[in-house]
Amino acid sequence: MSVVLVINSGSSSLKYSLVDVEREAELAGGLIERIGQQSGTVSHTVRVVARPGETVPAMLDVRHSDERPIADHGEAFDVMLQQFAAHGPDLAGHPPVAVGHRVVHGGARFFEPTPITPLVEINIDELSVLAPLHNPANLAGIRAAKAAFADVPHVAVFDTAFHQTLPPAAYTYAIDAEVARNHRIRRYGFHGTSHKYVSEAAAAFVGRPLDGLRQIVFHLGNGASVTAVDGGRSVETSMGFTPLEGLVMGTRSGDIDAAVVFHLARRGGLGTDQLDALLNKRSGLLGLGGSNDMRDILARRDAGDETASLAYDVYIHRLRAYAGAYIAQLGGVDVISFTAGVGENAAAVRADALATLGFMGVRVDADRNAERGAGTRRISADDSSVEVLVVPTDEELEIARQTLSAI
Ligand code: AMP
Repeated sequence: MSVVLVINSGSSSLKYSLVDVEREAELAGGLIERIGQQSGTVSHTVRVVARPGETVPAMLDVRHSDERPIADHGEAFDVMLQQFAAHGPDLAGHPPVAVGHRVVHGGARFFEPTPITPLVEINIDELSVLAPLHNPANLAGIRAAKAAFADVPHVAVFDTAFHQTLPPAAYTYAIDAEVARNHRIRRYGFHGTSHKYVSEAAAAFVGRPLDGLRQIVFHLGNGASVTAVDGGRSVETSMGFTPLEGLVMGTRSGDIDAAVVFHLARRGGLGTDQLDALLNKRSGLLGLGGSNDMRDILARRDAGDETASLAYDVYIHRLRAYAGAYIAQLGGVDVISFTAGVGENAAAVRADALATLGFMGVRVDADRNAERGAGTRRISADDSSVEVLVVPTDEELEIARQTLSAI
């Protein structure tokens, strides 16, 4: 059997997915939210799994929801086990062979999926300095999962790992080298699991070996990043020391002159936490256009709303700037892929992001781009010099695969 339980543990949430790696299928998945609050929510979905070559409409999946107080991550695992017992699939009959954990920050230490020993737990804990919101929550999930599944290996899959191949010129910030060394300040990059999955799926789709293929992957979700992938290796990515850098996101500013922060501290009287919240939680599409949801921005822009229009234009302007920069870094490009909520669904964003690359023969086909569909699909015209694809990301499957590879 090749069934892996994938865990993504947040500070007040637990996302889980039971994945059959051999069949590349999620058997069931769920989300437990508002852990530690007065009332928590539970949703558990049992999937109808397709036979090879078949696609099954998502509406056949069966979703169960519930509300109840959930004190901590330990109790959240009990709730998860109850969901499997009550609604299936039967975990006792088909126990997962391993548990894979999404861990946000692996620092410069972890560059591959890693079986979780007590020492690895200490390292993940120590890396909380670099990811104070994420690593402690990931670790709480690991500890609770180890108690609930004591007899199987647990593996950490790091969001930063895929970017450990960045060359020094790409990951080094041009600041005082000793300060940077003392505080471990460099670009780490995030969304690595998604960028790896999508770049491999794209190469398979176009039927060319990863080796020698120059790719750009736009992961455009609520968080957003773009990666240049050369021969299967990440060589440049837009998120940096934290996920704040780079593209305009749902609520994050992306790139900004660091002196704005000094100015707002000196003149605006904002403290560190307020500045952090401003740039991470109240900027991006939300700050400019009043909503972090691209659907709202597009609808309001189409209705003539000027603030939504400006938010959209700033978003696209940044995508174009990064596309150009990464084509220059790669010395050309063979495949450009779009993934995640915006990238998979917003045809206008895809077309506008690449609209100025006609001079180098990049052509998005309007009909193919407008068509909706499941699975990887080509949206470039037949005479395009570059393959342009939509590749639905599947971080759970990628974590499950990497977990199996590590045990
Ligand atoms: P993710 O973080 O990958 O789940 O992406 C979530 C974001 O995708 C949402 O906040 C929306 O902005 C965007 N999104 C989802 N569906 C659509 C759609 N049909 N059109 C445009 N944007 C969408």
